[in-house]
Amino acid sequence: MTPPTPLEVQLRSLDAQDVADQTLRDRVHQRLNERCQLDPETGCWIYTGNWDDRGTSRVRVGVRTYTLTRVAAWLYVAGFELWDARWVYHLGVCPNPACFNPEHLAVAADRAAAQAAMRAIGRYGSAAGRGQAAPGRRFSLDEARLVRGRLLNGEEAALLARELGVRVQAIRRIADGRSWPEEGKPPG
Ligand SMILES: [Zn+2]
Repeated sequence: MTPPTPLEVQLRSLDAQDVADQTLRDRVHQRLNERCQLDPETGCWIYTGNWDDRGTSRVRVGVRTYTLTRVAAWLYVAGFELWDARWVYHLGVCPNPACFNPEHLAVAADRAAAQAAMRAIGRYGSAAGRGQAAPGRRFSLDEARLVRGRLLNGEEAALLARELGVRVQAIRRIADGRSWPEEGKPPG
């Protein structure tokens, strides 16, 4: 038997790398599937794993962790890499920041583009945007109005806090008028 040429050795090592990548992908995919609850009304795939207090869920892939939406894009969007410079955000059709249904996600060129897209659909920096909103940040009056409106529509303060990347106390302060008191207090 003749020894393999350098090119053959290189090709075999690339094949082995492909197989290793696919195995890792399959393992992570399975882990997400085990922590997925389908919402039949919205079609959302709700992640039931852990969330941190900034409203971000991180998923371990190999030795590093990445945000849930980034991992979802890596699994479901052709050509999207974990270290991709592009940013992943939730589309307006998706009411749930804990969702990782790829049909409810979009990819923007960078962080600013993702934030602009979210702002356009009434979302302000969220779990989709890698938890970039500081927990202690101040809301604008428009944001306070939006939060009050959504609370009046029956949305839960904890879920809003998660989506907006703030602590639930910040939402409660808006709700009971300690923040932006000129806006009044929603009933209930
Ligand atoms: Zn969704």
